Amino acid sequence: MTAESIYQKTYFITTFGCQMNAHDSEKLAGILNGMGYRPAEDEHAADLVVYNTCCIRENAENRVLGNLGYLKHIKKKHPNKLVAVGGCMPQQDGAAKRLAATGAVDILFGTFNLHRFGELLERRVVTGETVSEVWEKPNGLDDGYMNAFRENPYRSGVNIMYGCDNFCSYCVVPKVRGRERSRRPEDIIAEIETLVSGGVKDITLLGQNVNSYGQKPEPTGVDFPSLLNLVARLEPAPKRLRFMTSHPKDLSPALIRTIAENDNVCKHIHLPVQSGSSRVLELMNRKYTREGYMSLITALREAIPGIAITTDIIIGFPGETEEDFADTLRLVREARFNGAFTFLYSKRSGTKAAEMPGQVPKDIANERFQRLLDAVNPIVLERGKEQENRTLHVLAEKEEDGVFTGRADNNALVHFKCGGQESPLGKIVPVKITQAKTFFLLGEGEAAQ
Ligand code: SF4
Repeated sequence: MTAESIYQKTYFITTFGCQMNAHDSEKLAGILNGMGYRPAEDEHAADLVVYNTCCIRENAENRVLGNLGYLKHIKKKHPNKLVAVGGCMPQQDGAAKRLAATGAVDILFGTFNLHRFGELLERRVVTGETVSEVWEKPNGLDDGYMNAFRENPYRSGVNIMYGCDNFCSYCVVPKVRGRERSRRPEDIIAEIETLVSGGVKDITLLGQNVNSYGQKPEPTGVDFPSLLNLVARLEPAPKRLRFMTSHPKDLSPALIRTIAENDNVCKHIHLPVQSGSSRVLELMNRKYTREGYMSLITALREAIPGIAITTDIIIGFPGETEEDFADTLRLVREARFNGAFTFLYSKRSGTKAAEMPGQVPKDIANERFQRLLDAVNPIVLERGKEQENRTLHVLAEKEEDGVFTGRADNNALVHFKCGGQESPLGKIVPVKITQAKTFFLLGEGEAAQ
């Protein structure tokens, strides 16, 4: 195959995992578009299939391995189809071997050398040999300058930092994404100015723990609340600013003030609690207590009336007793979250938690998980019902059969119809909420702003 023939090719990227991975996939798409590749409808139609993987939970890994088994079968009929696997999974000990053993992978790369994907692909195309390049650390190069292809023209993520230094005892992120590194504020601001001038309305500042922005590898001279303030007051300013994720141990009064004082900083915070038991939180190495977490919730709600708070909760962490679980249920009822991502603990080799005594049997963890959902979902629905008959401002991002979908300032997912001649797509539209469902709201849109 000549280098020229790759210009006719198509690709399909499947993303597993978090918003960081979703944004990395946009960067991969940017590289491929730059090489003349075009997006395909689905992976069957694609000449190049890319899996951008996650290894936080075992089932995400199993899905990738299962899909690769299927792709190996497809490749027998279509030997020119290429398969690339990147992201967090190849960064784990032994994972490269497991992935190679599927017999389906042509290109293997990791989180630290994503920017080299174009070169790796060309090498595979030119030599016909399997290419595997997984860096163990960032090598001083982070990818802020890479030209991402942002499929959603109205909403976008911007990395402000990479990696994590927190070493929660269940988590592989510090290993697969490396130690904490903040981008320079001037680079972040330049990227955001480009996005705003390109018409992006809703920008999410991304990091594993944005609250510790600006400290490492050396101080940037700007902490996270100051960065948020700077970005919120740019000329022209982003219409909406969000951030993700906030570690409770580093949530400062200055950040709460910054959210309260800037109209364009969305009134929503994702604040993972993980457990309602201080004992389990200590085992998790989270460095806050149940009481400390609840006092943050109180401070946020006092300073920012109506703020939506969402969370993550892990059930079945090693050593979790029925009493610890009851503490989590109590916290859920007290905090009355607007949304919660609930997870069954997944044992990850190389983490401290994997070696801890008291691994919770699956049937007990499953039963607690169901009880947690039974507690969380009615509260989320009640929170949604509080929005009925109110007007929320929704950024219309998608349209299907005359129904528009988008996020409100408070992050609620809203489906709505809209009268008038002009399409509201890409606009922030006042929407009267008519009905709340557990995971979304229904409404009627007014004239676009
Ligand atoms: S803060 Fe904890 S859970 Fe989050 S990425 Fe870092 S180590 Fe993992």
